[in-house]
Amino acid sequence: MTKKHILLPLLSILLVLLLAAPVSAQEETPELKLGLRRDFGYGGFSNDIQGTFTISANGPDTLEEVQFYLDDTLMGTDSEAPFSLQFNTDNFEPGTHDLSAVGTLAGGDQVSSNVLTAEFLSGEEAQGKTLSIVVPILGVVLVFTLLGGLIPMLTGKKGAAGPIGEYNMAGGTVCPRCKLPFSRHMMSPNLGVGKLERCPHCGKWSIRMRASQADLAAAEDRLRAKDTEKAQIEVDPDESLRRALDDSRFDE
Ligand SMILES: [Zn+2]
Repeated sequence: MTKKHILLPLLSILLVLLLAAPVSAQEETPELKLGLRRDFGYGGFSNDIQGTFTISANGPDTLEEVQFYLDDTLMGTDSEAPFSLQFNTDNFEPGTHDLSAVGTLAGGDQVSSNVLTAEFLSGEEAQGKTLSIVVPILGVVLVFTLLGGLIPMLTGKKGAAGPIGEYNMAGGTVCPRCKLPFSRHMMSPNLGVGKLERCPHCGKWSIRMRASQADLAAAEDRLRAKDTEKAQIEVDPDESLRRALDDSRFDE
């Protein structure tokens, strides 16, 4: 009971403070509101900027002229709405600067703006900061590109084997691993002792010479036997991935 009696006045004080807060904030609102827009260059995190920017000021309808300041130096004056000024950070010393403006109203009264604080970077600094953002992004893109190419290669189709007993002009060969026949690719790199080929049946990479007719005939028999057998075997997806990974290892 006693707790409630203490809490209630406290809460009402808090409420009054909360309600009063916007009123006092409104009094501090500048009559000129500054905005900063990047036209060309670097506008990174925090307030680091480099390049060409436009500072603009919004004020009362009777605003006639705005003077833009960098620290205490007058950068320029605009006497036509929209009141703005383009500047390049390279024309000023690198470091922390305050951007502000003073407006003149129709009656001659002056109004001040809020202050924007910006860290002007040198060209090299901005380049370094850009690289520190771009390089990791490029790295991520590269990794995804590699994965995008690798995963289908490891798990995807191993290529069409074509009808049994039919080979193109590069000739038929027999896989050293699964002993099944396949057509050598016309475009495969020729390594002198044979072409670098990937078996369309098991996915094994090997250097293949053209096989003899007898070897091919025997391999074709094995393939026909396997085709009938395959219809009955159900493949476990995990097992097929593991096998695909094993198969991708290249050995002589
Ligand atoms: Zn094979």
